[in-house]
Amino acid sequence: MRGPCSSASVSVWDALGLVLLHEVKTDREYPPFDRSTRDGYAVRSADIKLGAQLKCVGEIKAGDTVTQPLTPGACVQIMTGAAVPVGADAVVMIEYTQREGELIRFERAAQAKQNIVPRGSEARAGQTILKAGMRLGFAELALAAQVGATQLQCAKRPRIAILSTGDEVVLIDEQPGAFQIRNSNSVSLAAQVRIAGGEPVVLGNAADRVEDLGEKIERGLKEDALVLTGGVSMGKYDLVETVLKALGAEFFFDAVSIRPGKPAVFAVCKSKPVFGLPGNPVSTMVTFQLFVTPAIDLLSGGDAHPLALVEARLGQALNERPGLTHFLPARIEWHGAEPHVSALKWQGSGDIAALAGANCFVVVPSEREKIASGERVSVLLRKDVV
Ligand code: AMP
Ligand code: MG
Repeated sequence: MRGPCSSASVSVWDALGLVLLHEVKTDREYPPFDRSTRDGYAVRSADIKLGAQLKCVGEIKAGDTVTQPLTPGACVQIMTGAAVPVGADAVVMIEYTQREGELIRFERAAQAKQNIVPRGSEARAGQTILKAGMRLGFAELALAAQVGATQLQCAKRPRIAILSTGDEVVLIDEQPGAFQIRNSNSVSLAAQVRIAGGEPVVLGNAADRVEDLGEKIERGLKEDALVLTGGVSMGKYDLVETVLKALGAEFFFDAVSIRPGKPAVFAVCKSKPVFGLPGNPVSTMVTFQLFVTPAIDLLSGGDAHPLALVEARLGQALNERPGLTHFLPARIEWHGAEPHVSALKWQGSGDIAALAGANCFVVVPSEREKIASGERVSVLLRKDVV
């Protein structure tokens, strides 16, 4: 499943979230000169003793070319980001000085090297600073921009087909009949595909009929991966697995010991990864995060990120049925020195509102029934834009 489908040269302005396909090296040393990290005075540290006075012989702004070496007994006013002159080995912060005309009185002793970042200490010239396979976030893009790498060869976003199923499902801008529902899963899935770095290709909804499902699944298999929702449970009209089998799919799992999301399916059909996620909206969203997000990492040409798990202290006690690993919609917040997490009230897997208020899931291991308030628990952070 690994590997990008194709690559493109992308401007650094447009490469957020893409996977880089080549190394980026520095074009020169960083910093390219001995750089002052403070506004103050460049000095020879040996000249400074408590209460020392030195003559200020000039000023260096960030960007100035510095040619004059600093002579003993003198100092130069210097700004943050400016080049430290030859001869100076320390910068004293302006806050620790008094100025009387050309004379500067130093109220603190200076240590050699203080407030100076030496030339080449952040990176050598030609050093690799970004590796192939890295996903480009804001800091990685800034690094590329810093070294002048304004065009980057990146993997194209994998195209992820999204197909919902169910005779009860109508378009979101249609008025549903009394027993129908709007296709909210296609909306959450398209958003989750984008967050994971893919490009959603929304194929609409298939009826619970073999022919319609078959046609639309085959259409979905033209993309890099296919994600279905609904139709994977045990009901008479849950036909996704039947249709996939008829198309020659090889199944890797057809149920998972988790709640929500037990009926989730993963298969490879006509060489394309296919996820059959349960139709209940919370199950769809949770199983996407658990199974599809890492697959999109791989399809994007990068490594699969480990699950975003953290530990927190449980607010209210929990009592869950053992046998399945539970992922309970929850909120994690800092209280004092550590994070606390509380599961939210929810009405089961159809309760989108519970998930809309959640920023994480409490993970309850399958062997646990009761967890007392105050215990440390694992928390899966909700992968999102907020
Ligand atoms: P299923 O997995 O097909 O048995 O569907 C389970 C339940 O999920 C259905 O009864 C619907 O209430 C809900 N559901 C299925 N598909 C969607 C969808 N596309 N959008 C929102 N809810 C859905
Ligand atoms: Mg259904």
